[in-house]
Amino acid sequence: MDDDDVSARKGSFRKFLEHLSGAGKAIGVLTSGGDAQGMNAAVRAVVRMGIYVGAKVYFVYEGYQGMVDGGSNIVEANWESVSSILQVGGTIIGSARCKAFRTREGRLKAAGNLVQRGITNLCVIGGDGSLTGANIFRKEWSGLLKELAENGDIDREEVQKHAYLNVVGMVGSIDNDFCGTDMTIGTDSALHRIIEVVDAIMTTAQSHQRTFVLEVMGRHCGYLALVSALACGADWVFLPESPPEEGWQENMCIKLSENRARKKRLNIIIVAEGAIDTQNKPITSEQIKELVVTQLGYDTRVTILGHVQRGGTPSAFDRILASRMGVEAVVALLQATPETPACVVSLSGNQAVRLPLLECVQMTQDVQKAMDERRFKDAVRLRGRSFESNLNTYKRLAIKMPDDQIPKSNCNVAVINVGAPAAGMNAAVRSAVRVGISEGHKMFAIYDGFEGFAKGQIKEIGWADVGGWTGQGGSILGTKRTLPGKSLEAIAEQMRTHSINALLIIGGFEAFEGSVLLAQARDSHQEFCVPICIVPATISNNVPGSDISMGSDTGLNVLVETCDRIKQSASGTKRRVFIIETMGGYCGYLANMGALAAGADAAYIFEEPFDIRDLQANVEHLTEKMKTTIQRGLVLRYGRRLLAPAPRPGFSEPSGFTV
Ligand code: ATP
Repeated sequence: MDDDDVSARKGSFRKFLEHLSGAGKAIGVLTSGGDAQGMNAAVRAVVRMGIYVGAKVYFVYEGYQGMVDGGSNIVEANWESVSSILQVGGTIIGSARCKAFRTREGRLKAAGNLVQRGITNLCVIGGDGSLTGANIFRKEWSGLLKELAENGDIDREEVQKHAYLNVVGMVGSIDNDFCGTDMTIGTDSALHRIIEVVDAIMTTAQSHQRTFVLEVMGRHCGYLALVSALACGADWVFLPESPPEEGWQENMCIKLSENRARKKRLNIIIVAEGAIDTQNKPITSEQIKELVVTQLGYDTRVTILGHVQRGGTPSAFDRILASRMGVEAVVALLQATPETPACVVSLSGNQAVRLPLLECVQMTQDVQKAMDERRFKDAVRLRGRSFESNLNTYKRLAIKMPDDQIPKSNCNVAVINVGAPAAGMNAAVRSAVRVGISEGHKMFAIYDGFEGFAKGQIKEIGWADVGGWTGQGGSILGTKRTLPGKSLEAIAEQMRTHSINALLIIGGFEAFEGSVLLAQARDSHQEFCVPICIVPATISNNVPGSDISMGSDTGLNVLVETCDRIKQSASGTKRRVFIIETMGGYCGYLANMGALAAGADAAYIFEEPFDIRDLQANVEHLTEKMKTTIQRGLVLRYGRRLLAPAPRPGFSEPSGFTV
């Protein structure tokens, strides 16, 4: 992208915002229902975007209860009221369940309290119950105002002036139980907590042979259980949407004992809180433990994670998701007309989209109805495409089909890692090997990238060889940046010797470059006239064709954790600016997203050229900031090619970090 493109983009964004004036408007923001990590990032985004477009933004403390009670529960927020909250779990404005709001009388009081402050825009962050309540409130609004006027609580002019209530919802729920969005705010952080526990359990359990039964949250939704089972390669998972088939007790014990026979020292069984059997009877963790102990005699422990999953700092993903949704929510409120139905800001693919709130709530309730009526296939389908595909992937990777049921393909597929190691590479190899075997292919592992391939470091790999690879960082196969250009002949010979019919390359930019070289050599080497497929894996996220590459989320989390620590270290000292240099491979993804998730003052990235005026503006911004209570600055910059702003008198010497 050249300079003209960048300034055109900046210009059109400014123009877009010019048409989006919030002057004279007031927005109320509240968090309701169970708390979730990332809610603070959503509140921060609503407050700052609201102020940015000239609106007044009010905190409504303690959810709907604060709206009903009014008084000091509804307070105008300013830019600094949301400083330093991105990294804080839970919600700083409090959340509650409120009986009064379920009654018209309660909602009448709430309407009176909003009108008093001129609030006719409401941003609700909560689960489906909270959003249902918001929708009812919006529908009743004009009737409530009429009644308030009849009671003499407000005058007719106010009824006219505040005739419509605009409502936008954001789903904050660790369960990911809301239809219409790929992810709800808090789910990713909860998954982090679960995986941290699994990792801890795995290290202790390696010393003993044990079976762990891990109960995770999800009274009605098995998302957390399913995805954590997928992420840690659990032996068995119990979900409310997909109860195990009749006779599961015996099948599970066979599976556990088969894994033990393969020298697996640890069995992990994951149970969703609301797990049921096909007759809708609960399956409890204790019941599973009892079964394993009596049938197999294994040393078995139950761990119930409970509220730990709601705790801790939000992940980078949740902070970014909530920040993007918060901005979109304010835009939606300002663009709403009296005819616009209440909407919910959702994530579809990697885009923030607006969907009709009522339809999403209805769909969410339909899943429960399907489960109640034991239509489990419908329940899985209604949960959405990603739930269904996660379930299918888990099943494919967890249980090997009996040999006589595997189709025969006569196809030899080789898997190779190329470039720098990225988290997730091993999980991808495991997945590819097991799916390939299930399809009847013979799978080959290539060691040490193209360099190793040229030297003949290739051998067949089996189902059990990749057991336990999911949670391991780096590249077990070994990976190198070397391109195949100089050893095409030797690589072609290896392809020929092992009759390789397809090549799966897992890696970053060098993987792309390498595959182009192989494809270009097809005229001279027919061995390369086979399907060549790339799975992008690079922490820099600098490759085309995918919004997010493997490893970039892990890289981002490391960066954001470091920024949090640096911010924390600065809390005792004043007037200090930290400059953090990130990796990037000519891509500003890590610096830019890291800045968004850590709440940095600026990010200097490769794609957006900047000059001395930008640096000066940043220094001036930091100078102003030092006059406030937040006497700390954070600047992220990509790579080493960029210059850091020079220290100015009055600042401490900037401290530099490379992450
Ligand atoms: P979670 O997923 O954490 O349970 P939730 O938003 O679904 O979150 P609920 O307890 O169902 O949690 O709802 C939170 C609050 O929203 C309730 O205490 C109540 O004040 C309000 N609310 C829920 N349903 C309705 C409704 N049908 N009418 C009015 N208000 C409602």
